[in-house]
Amino acid sequence: MTERPRLTVLSGPSGVGKSTVLAHMRKAHPEVWYSVSATTRKPRPGERDGVQYFFVDDETFDKMVANGDFLEWARFAGNRYGTPRRPVVERLEQGQPVLLEIELQGARQVRESMPDAQLVFLAPPSWEELVRRLTGRGTEPEDVIDARLRQARVELAAEPEFDTTLVNTSVEDVSAELLALLNVA
Ligand code: 5GP
Repeated sequence: MTERPRLTVLSGPSGVGKSTVLAHMRKAHPEVWYSVSATTRKPRPGERDGVQYFFVDDETFDKMVANGDFLEWARFAGNRYGTPRRPVVERLEQGQPVLLEIELQGARQVRESMPDAQLVFLAPPSWEELVRRLTGRGTEPEDVIDARLRQARVELAAEPEFDTTLVNTSVEDVSAELLALLNVA
């Protein structure tokens, strides 16, 4: 009997490199299906609607919440982000592995609503390395950096809630480990 594909959630502190890992996997393994989230955040340069996110306004997001369209949703850094439920359920029913890249509150909601989901925590090699990544750009004022570091401490403390921890020593290594967890390696 083949094992039913599971929903896999990749989460971890801001700045740890989740989106870099995902971008690497997207290139190397187009067969893995990633959920595209909806967000009220404005697109960054180079981001395209329907690729990185579905960029929606507040009113549209409100409607999606009211309709129960989201598997989970959360506020993060002044914006809202949510995983559209239907495509995820459809892919799982078709037997495809599904990967979500979401922040901590969303991962907790998935744990509640889909208890057999596999929760993967991406951890930095060390606290110093995370500080370096979060402060690296040197463009943000000190109070913003302080707030991000405080938030990172809270996020790191959630690691024991996850099924598996992967340490982001290199993008290639983490991608390979994640593929093995997805059963597509
Ligand atoms: P960014 O604005 O940098 O693209 O994403 C900010 C944070 O939102 C990241 O930690 C990312 O993982 C998270 N995120 C992206 N999409 C979703 C989603 O659909 N739900 C939740 N809960 N978090 C999300």
